Amino acid sequence: MTMQRRYQRGDTGPAVAEIRSKLVLLGLLPAGAPAIGATSTIRDTRHHGGYEDAVFDDSVDLAVRHFQQQRAMTVDGVVGPETYRHLDEARWRLGDRMLSYSVGHPTVGDDVATLQQRLLDMGFDCGRVDGILGPATERALREFQRNYGLGADGTCGPATFRALDRLARTVVGGQPHAMRESELLHRSGPSLAGKTVVIDPGHGGADHGVVAHGLSEAEVVWDLARRLEGRLSALGVQAYLTRGVDGVGAGNVGNTGEEERAAFANATDADLVISLHADRNDSPRAAGVSSYYYGSGSDRYGRRSPTGEHFASLVQRELVARTGMVDGRTHGKAWTLLRRTRMPAVRVELGYLTNADDAARLATSEFRDHAAESVVVALQRLYLPPDEDVPTGMLRLPVFS
Ligand SMILES: [Zn+2]
Repeated sequence: MTMQRRYQRGDTGPAVAEIRSKLVLLGLLPAGAPAIGATSTIRDTRHHGGYEDAVFDDSVDLAVRHFQQQRAMTVDGVVGPETYRHLDEARWRLGDRMLSYSVGHPTVGDDVATLQQRLLDMGFDCGRVDGILGPATERALREFQRNYGLGADGTCGPATFRALDRLARTVVGGQPHAMRESELLHRSGPSLAGKTVVIDPGHGGADHGVVAHGLSEAEVVWDLARRLEGRLSALGVQAYLTRGVDGVGAGNVGNTGEEERAAFANATDADLVISLHADRNDSPRAAGVSSYYYGSGSDRYGRRSPTGEHFASLVQRELVARTGMVDGRTHGKAWTLLRRTRMPAVRVELGYLTNADDAARLATSEFRDHAAESVVVALQRLYLPPDEDVPTGMLRLPVFS
């Protein structure tokens, strides 16, 4: 319905009935208030709320003025085309209807304004908040959907509403990339069963990695990878190794390079990648474990994987607590495997083979069991809701035969 004329106190009729019902919907007029004139008291009750009998009375006048004040309009208590259009737009709440860009007939309403405000809050530039779904809003919406792992169709439907609703209650003002990771983590739930993890034992084949104190890095991390794989499988995790014992990758494809290993991980659509290495140093005194996640640049424009960083810190803390190794801490690095994997990836350097003490520990099956256990515990803690997390070194896993 379009409103050509102006309605004010004393008017009656269908248009006034509609104005009243809109004001009731907006909570500005009590529901069930008499919608008909004073003469109605002597009429049949069937006429209550009657279309023809609606009266623009003092309560309507007050509600209209209240509404005009809220919307920064001229406060005159008169409903002309401008006020009517605002009344019509105001009834839409985000989620009431599908929103999409339509050339020539832009969707207008408070739901569009809410969408625009949310997009701006999250850093997606849709121009100004005007309640009109134009090309800039559509572009920002698609960008949001892409970053959020939703189908970037530019249509605001149920999945997008849910995502917007959840984000409004959690992250606002975060980096889109960081939000997507947090969302995927949240969506996947606390159970390890059903998750997919890629275990990447470094080096392999002709590449032995560090060789010192009678140990070869490629062999040590291969053995560790198998222990880890066994524990994860027992918990229902689908574990993939990037290479076989001989260094050849799955399907006999040589996964020797970091690029190939990253591509392999991406192809499995894993939840997480754990790369296992042992370190070397010219100084035989250098010792300890360190964990690395994807991170580049230290300023606010730098990119990093927040989930990777969190997982690295959990792995690092569990390893130090359970093995007694020196704490080499966590570090952000832009190494190929960390950068090219689409999922959070962590590389663990489990000690220095060039250090006599570290090498002696890495040689034992006891240390390797503790190390594998540390990674599994860290993985479990990563998916636990914050209020269910346990202190480092305390989480016990099922006993493995
Ligand atoms: Zn290595």
